[in-house]
Amino acid sequence: MDSPRAAPPPALLVRASLGARRLARRVYGIVAAVALATFVVTGGVVDTTPLVQGVVLAVVLLLVGRKLAKKVRSMGDASAWDDVELGALVAVAVVGVVLRVDGRLDGPLHPLAYVAVALAAAFFRPGATVLVALWLVGLEAAVAFVSLGRISVEAVAQRGFFVLLFALLHLVLLRAELTRIRAAARAKVEDEIVRLKDDARRYRLLGAGEAAAPAEPGPASSGAPEDRLARSSVEEIHQSVHYALELLRRTLDLHTAVLLWQNDAGTHLRISELSTASDDIHDAPIPLGDGVLAAVMQQKKTVSLERLKPSFKVPYYSGACPVRTFVAIPVMEDGVPRGILALDRTSERPFTPHEEELAAQAVRYCHRAIQNERVFVQLERAKVEQGKLYRAAQALGAALTEDEVLGAGVRAAREIASFDLAAVTVWDDEKKMHEVRAATSRGKEIDDLVGARFQPNAGLVSMVVQNKFPLPYRGDYDPSHQTVLTKRLPWPKMPSLLVIPLMLHDRVLGTLILGASRRHAFGESVRPTLEVLASHLAVSLANARMVAKLETMATTDGMTGLLNKRAMLEQAEQKVSSAKRFGRKLSVLVTDIDFFKRVNDTYGHDIGDMVIRGLGDVLRRQKRATDVVARFGGEEFVVLCEQTDEAGAMLLGERIREELEKTVFHTPNGKLSVTCSIGIATLPDAGGDWDTLFKSADEALYTSKRGGRNRTTLFQKRGSEVRMHAQTPAPPAKRAI
Ligand code: GH3
Ligand code: MG
Ligand code: MG
Repeated sequence: MDSPRAAPPPALLVRASLGARRLARRVYGIVAAVALATFVVTGGVVDTTPLVQGVVLAVVLLLVGRKLAKKVRSMGDASAWDDVELGALVAVAVVGVVLRVDGRLDGPLHPLAYVAVALAAAFFRPGATVLVALWLVGLEAAVAFVSLGRISVEAVAQRGFFVLLFALLHLVLLRAELTRIRAAARAKVEDEIVRLKDDARRYRLLGAGEAAAPAEPGPASSGAPEDRLARSSVEEIHQSVHYALELLRRTLDLHTAVLLWQNDAGTHLRISELSTASDDIHDAPIPLGDGVLAAVMQQKKTVSLERLKPSFKVPYYSGACPVRTFVAIPVMEDGVPRGILALDRTSERPFTPHEEELAAQAVRYCHRAIQNERVFVQLERAKVEQGKLYRAAQALGAALTEDEVLGAGVRAAREIASFDLAAVTVWDDEKKMHEVRAATSRGKEIDDLVGARFQPNAGLVSMVVQNKFPLPYRGDYDPSHQTVLTKRLPWPKMPSLLVIPLMLHDRVLGTLILGASRRHAFGESVRPTLEVLASHLAVSLANARMVAKLETMATTDGMTGLLNKRAMLEQAEQKVSSAKRFGRKLSVLVTDIDFFKRVNDTYGHDIGDMVIRGLGDVLRRQKRATDVVARFGGEEFVVLCEQTDEAGAMLLGERIREELEKTVFHTPNGKLSVTCSIGIATLPDAGGDWDTLFKSADEALYTSKRGGRNRTTLFQKRGSEVRMHAQTPAPPAKRAI
């Protein structure tokens, strides 16, 4: 009898029906377009009844309407496939309507085809436009040959050629125009940003490092809020200054009131803000070589001129001098001239001392506006930096392991500065060695360096650890002259690099290394914050090490370096329950040195300790990777062997016993060797829980002792009777005592 075929699981059916529906949704437009095209090509638009034609028209309109609505909803993000479907439907509609109304393709309505193609070029993706144009041409050709049968091949080809050409020209011209407009808009925005940055620098709102950095788009996420801050500050200054100049011009009846500001290098003046009635303002850098403005800057004194001739050169006017009186007042900052406030009039009326005093007050007002903004920017920046450091401190505080600390440190550094790679090295003061503990980079250039160790050398990391000072100077890296770790460990050639010491009080724990492919990435604005972060990182690193040390101390026996009793019991519980769950065997070996009291009594406690350590070494050597060895107390050790049956455990026990027997301890009183007795119990026969298992092993050990020592005994249970199977060496164990 055939077994009935299993019905497909319901999930499969659901998935299949969902897939079919998705497919139908994706292709119904094109299927409809092909069906309608067939209707048109086979003469449906002329041969059928008006009712059928009306229904078909309604269907076309409905489909086009739906696709159009989808296109509008997607806000220009429609896929090329959606475009093709919509275009194909419109093309069918156009051909159908032309055929129905004109009765031929080259009638009065024939330009509709060009309109359809032009619309496609304007709103569809280029590939979709070409496909739609080809479809239209193919459709017309099919209609001409199948339905009409009276148009020449040349006429159809000619028309097709022009429709395609039209589509291509439209595409090319439209795209070129769009690209041009976009490029122009982008250039305008970039110019504006450069101008604002320039202003910010001239007012000293930005540090020199940041100002020198080009406005290139990059991963400079941290720079963005600061840029915004500087920009809004520049706008504030402009508004305040403009208000003052406007007021001056109106109250003193001026032609122009202008604030000129010096560039960074001190070679030019430039109009910073002005209020004027003139149309001939010349807004270009004014060289400070000679002329009246240069004199004002040099002498740091107000210059007032009257009865000026048209030939006199006032540098901010482009044509002949339109003014008769002129006064220029230097804007001083810490005794250094930074700019000029210039006022002029077209009338002959000279500036009175009172007016000059008013102008001087305006200068002070402008200067205060700039200073206020500078303080504001500094405060805001300090607030932002503190926020970053606060978050960094929290993240670092929550990190407990060294890895967590390093991860949190690098993440926090990313908030402060933008960089392409980061690494942390630690310095081992005892071994005099550096080690790369963490390394991460965008292009994975340095990720392999983790674990690399190197000795002190002339590289930057060694220098930083030695001098306790960040390097290189100003964060500019010169790969041809500087080494980062050692010559042997290659470092990517990047123009920006910063190696900061991780200082704990006056001790250097290691270094934090940051690298960037952007120039001047680690300027004055980020370095101090990064240094504070590095000291947080150092404290957290020291804490993580302390926690790790305490954990080791809590689980390790100090004398042998093996696990202690507490840690062993934890492991034992886990191993017993997993052995039971998976039905596996688990053996426990308990060892005890024979007549150990005598060793202590004869050779002293120190030698006793040496013997205990010796047995620890034997156990460490004999154990397999999955075995767990612990010093249980005094001179007793326990070995836990997963997936080990009675025979396997006996073999291990014998190996241990024999190796200890062979071991010779050299003492001041001569050579010494000892033996040990071992008891073994295996789960499940010897016990189903840890306590029973351990008790059984201990009983077996006792049997070994009673049986003459220096032997291994396996605990065996038959029914209720307990029998010990002892593996006994033939001659009684020799002892040095
Ligand atoms: P047996 O063969 O029956 O085991 O005789 P034994 O003398 O070894 O007796 P037992 O195992 O009871 O002796 C344990 C002795 O080990 C007692 C104690 O003086 C000594 N001992 C315990 N811990 C240490 C230690 O850390 N260092 C040293 N040197 N001796 C220890
Ligand atoms: Mg003992
Ligand atoms: Mg003993």
